[in-house]
Amino acid sequence: MTGKELPASNIADLQSLLRRREISPREVLDVLRARIEDVDGKIDAYLSTDFEGAVEKAEKTDVDLPLGGVPIAIKDIISVAGQPCTCASKILQGYRAPYDATVIRKLRAAGAIPLGKTNMDEFAMGSSTENSGFKLTRNPWDLSRVPGGSSGGSAAAVAADEAFAGLGTDTGGSIRQPASLSGVVGLKPTYGRVSRFGLVAFASSLDQVGPLTKTVRDAALIMNVIAGHDPQDSTCLNEPLPDYTAALGRDLRGIRLGLPKEYMIEGIDPQVKSAIDAAIAQLETLGAEIVHVSLPHTDYSTAVYYILATAEASANLARFDGVRYGHRAENPKDLLDHYGRTREEGFGAEVKRRITLGTYVLSSGYYDAYYLRAQKVRELIRQDFAKAFERVDALISPTSPVPAFKIGERTEDPLQMYLADIFTNPANLAGICGISVPCGLAEIEGHRLPIGLQLLGKALDEARILQIAHAYEQSTDWHKARPPIAASMQNG
Ligand code: GLN
Repeated sequence: MTGKELPASNIADLQSLLRRREISPREVLDVLRARIEDVDGKIDAYLSTDFEGAVEKAEKTDVDLPLGGVPIAIKDIISVAGQPCTCASKILQGYRAPYDATVIRKLRAAGAIPLGKTNMDEFAMGSSTENSGFKLTRNPWDLSRVPGGSSGGSAAAVAADEAFAGLGTDTGGSIRQPASLSGVVGLKPTYGRVSRFGLVAFASSLDQVGPLTKTVRDAALIMNVIAGHDPQDSTCLNEPLPDYTAALGRDLRGIRLGLPKEYMIEGIDPQVKSAIDAAIAQLETLGAEIVHVSLPHTDYSTAVYYILATAEASANLARFDGVRYGHRAENPKDLLDHYGRTREEGFGAEVKRRITLGTYVLSSGYYDAYYLRAQKVRELIRQDFAKAFERVDALISPTSPVPAFKIGERTEDPLQMYLADIFTNPANLAGICGISVPCGLAEIEGHRLPIGLQLLGKALDEARILQIAHAYEQSTDWHKARPPIAASMQNG
């Protein structure tokens, strides 16, 4: 094995090498470290790494555990004991998490090794990772473009072979959309399937942690470890846990897939549209039956999402007051000046916009007109999905209407940025699960840019969407396409 070339690109292949003792966990870390040192100056996927801690764990890990010796990149909004947890916000600069999130505790128990913390939009608010308070992350397929967001650091790290897998969070699309734009697999679990304990809250009724991986099988392997009940998160469901790898490999005969007519809108990039059409034809070839369905309240979902997410964020972010965590303003005149200046200095523009919007929709006089009405429409959106799932096993759509956009292209117009998750946020509002899987490559300005297919499943039906995504993935070569920054490394 030479210098900076990864010994395997995905978890399953890495595990065969580890379990045959062809490589040790320590060697895996060494090669990954060299790889990160080589390319992260161009991609900027990581905010911090902990190789020393990782090496210590690697020496003791048992490779026969479910994720034994597998290093994982962690979005910087998930607590890893002793490591920085900034949420890419200046207000949390210098803060270190005092304990492990439940997902980290479970990963460690399964032998996985948290390797570093990845860049993101500040407090997960955004769709491009440009709202990070610290740095831009670049799309490995075209360095002038965004990797998507808010889990853009984890998505780019996986795409650029700077990680075998990553954890992200998805409140309105932040796992699936960056997965789509960066050409990797991203799974948003059902609300309550994975513990949120130790995750810094953005919008508590929408947030979920999930995997970003090279393959569908790897997403299933991580779900087997992180899913399940947690008494420390009262919203975490106490439901039986399937083996998510069990249905992989089954064919699609008898599976009914719904095509929501509201998702095939004007404004979808023509290359995205033709990739999705080809994916639908492929799924039919595999035995699935395509059914046309309607989700009539789709038009309201982005408005409802941005009312509820900002309302919840304004309450959750009240805790950053300069007393308990991170940044604090110098020489305050009094307590109000201390709060005001700490927050003025610590929060970026988008976070301030969200707190302002959220405070507005919750204020007396506007609460009924906005917050309460949005809650009612959320219920209608949930019912749309429930009705559709009476007829179909899963729904299909593009994950994002467009491939990766240019850095700076949407930053001046927040509404354009908000429209990046029109196809992803309804699943969060309904609490159901969704996955994005690579389904094509657009050609734009001499670059190949990934396209993602989204599959949505009913609550707790992750095994089903994994099965469908896996059958599709294995019948195509899209998951094997590598961005130039990874391909050149592998060739030479
Ligand atoms: N882009 C959406 C937002 O800005 C979703 C973010 C997310 O899922 N964390 O809120």
